[in-house]
Amino acid sequence: MELTILGCYSATPRIHTNPTAQVLNIRNHLFLIDCGEGTQIQLRRYKVKFSRIRHIFISHLHGDHYFGLVGLISTFTLLGREAELHIYGPKGIKDIILLQLKSGKTWTNYPLYFHELETKEPHLIFEDDKVTVETIPLKHRVYTNGFIFKEKESERKLNIAEVKKANIDVSYYRKIKQGFDVENEKGKTFSNKDLTFDPEPPKSYAFCSDTAYNPDCVSQLKNCTTLYHESTFLNEHSHLAETTKHSTAAQAANIAKEANVGLLILGHYSTRYTSLDLFIEEAKPIFKNIELAEEGKTFSI
Ligand SMILES: [Zn+2]
Repeated sequence: MELTILGCYSATPRIHTNPTAQVLNIRNHLFLIDCGEGTQIQLRRYKVKFSRIRHIFISHLHGDHYFGLVGLISTFTLLGREAELHIYGPKGIKDIILLQLKSGKTWTNYPLYFHELETKEPHLIFEDDKVTVETIPLKHRVYTNGFIFKEKESERKLNIAEVKKANIDVSYYRKIKQGFDVENEKGKTFSNKDLTFDPEPPKSYAFCSDTAYNPDCVSQLKNCTTLYHESTFLNEHSHLAETTKHSTAAQAANIAKEANVGLLILGHYSTRYTSLDLFIEEAKPIFKNIELAEEGKTFSI
C-alpha cells in the first residue's frame, strides 16, 4: 500500500496549501479519498495516473472535502474516459453533482455510479479480491465517515527450493499457495508448511477526517498499520476544536495510542499556523511514531 497526500489543510485553498485529498494505491488499484478544490491539479502535479482511479470516497459534504469532485468528473469526460467511476459519499452527493452537470447540459460518457451513505454504524461499502473498505462513523458538524482499507490475506509463498527438491509438478503450485498439502508423482505426501513461507501480514489504512475527539472509533482502529487522523488545531485553540467539532494534535495522538496503531499521520491543519513543528511537539509525548502529512509526500504502508 502506498499513500500520497495531495492536500492536507482545512478550509480554503491557498497558493501553497490545498484542502483534503489523498490517493491510496493498493497493489495498483488507486482509491481517491476526499476531493477538495484543486485536486485534479494536484493529481497532475504529483503525476498520479488518474485514469486509473475507479473509486472515490468522500467523507462529508463540507466544501474543503469535495468541491473538486464535479471538476474531476467533468475532466474525465473531456479525457474520453470509458471506465466506470464509483463515488461513495453522504446521501445528497448524487443530487448535488447531477444538478451541476444537468445545469450545464452535460453528461459523462462513462458509467458513473453513486453509493450514498447514511448508516451511522460501521459498514462494509467496498470489497474485491484484494481489499475491503468499511466506513468509520465520525463526530462532526454534519454526517461524516472515515474509511478503513484492509488488505485481504495473501496466498502463501512458495519455498521454491523445497518444492523442486520434492519433485512436485508445477501444476500443483497453485494448490500449494492456497495452503494444501500435495503428493509428488511417487505418491509421497508433503506438508504445506514445509513447502511454503508465511505471506506478509495484511496491512490496513484508516482515514479519520473530520472529527471531534471520538474514542468510540478506537475499537475499529485497533492495531491498524497506519492511521491518518485530523489535527486541525493545537492545544491553545482546543476551545475551537470543541466548538467546530475538530481534534487537536494531542487528541489525535491519544486515539493512536489507545488503538495501538503502527504509524500516525497528522493533517487537516488550520491555515492559521505558520509552522507545523508544534503539531509534532504536542503529539509526540503521547504517541511516538508520528509523521506530518505534507503535500506530495508518499508514505509506504
Ligand atoms: Zn468538515
